[in-house]
Amino acid sequence: MEQKKSWFSRLKEGLGKTNSWFAGLFGGDRINEEFYEELEEAMILADMGMETAEKLLEELKVAVRRDKLSARDEAKAALCALIADAVRHDTAFLADRGPCVVLIVGVNGVGKTTTIGKLAHLYHTRGRRPMIAAADTFRAAAAEQLGEWARRADCPMVRHGEGADPAAVVFDAIASYRAKGCDLLFVDTAGRLHNKKNLMNELNKIRRVIARELPDTPCEVLLVLDATTGQNATAQAKAFLETCELTGVVLTKLDGTAKGGVTVQIHDTLNVPVRFIGVGEGIDDLQWFDADEFAKALL
Ligand code: GDP
Repeated sequence: MEQKKSWFSRLKEGLGKTNSWFAGLFGGDRINEEFYEELEEAMILADMGMETAEKLLEELKVAVRRDKLSARDEAKAALCALIADAVRHDTAFLADRGPCVVLIVGVNGVGKTTTIGKLAHLYHTRGRRPMIAAADTFRAAAAEQLGEWARRADCPMVRHGEGADPAAVVFDAIASYRAKGCDLLFVDTAGRLHNKKNLMNELNKIRRVIARELPDTPCEVLLVLDATTGQNATAQAKAFLETCELTGVVLTKLDGTAKGGVTVQIHDTLNVPVRFIGVGEGIDDLQWFDADEFAKALL
């Protein structure tokens, strides 16, 4: 409980700028046209994007009329529920169900390496046996840094030299995964979005190796996005959706200067569930995404 409180307060602090805009608005008493206009502006400033902000506002107006709400704090509660519904997803993250391969994709600098370390630690402390495949062979430093995280998470890692075939790394990692009796395989991949065709070929090749070697093990593809980059994060999500079969998103740096609304936009416009959020640079600073807690922190 103590730990939960601390991550929640870090998330809330991170989103401080956003919730102070909203707090100013909900401080007044009457719900009128001016209130709606200011609210829409605040939602756009919070990185929700125009389309999502307009949609939420329409839904709010319906709720206000239907439930005969007249005070702004009632509208706040209604909006909070609408945002929570917008970011809720009812499909399970397959790694929580049993053995799973989790491909981690994302451009450099978003927090991919850190997230893999945190994920390995999170599942390891819950009694799982994770293994890491350092298949971003494009940058030698990537495997070095990932190796450091693997040590901290007390989790085995397989790597090859710089420039090696990523699919070959995955092949060897699967052999080691089997030999060691692991039940989760996190695969780091190179974030070369500027060269979509290469990235697509590389990911497809990795997927073929996984399908052949572990035909009964489900695969998740998680995209790591830096929430502080706002609308750029949504643009990256769109581009990756065109390149690979994304099954979820990790939003990092929600403890920082992120405005948070991009979380709502990604769910709403791309229909990809946010599975985890990063709220700091430490190994424990990753949380399963909770729709209600998030909506509360945002407002
Ligand atoms: P990569 O290039 O995508 O592998 O990114 P890294 O994992 O190396 O992270 C880039 C920077 O972001 C590092 O300084 C990390 O400490 C930092 N970082 C990653 N996740 C978070 C987070 O949730 N919160 C904060 N504040 N910093 C983070």
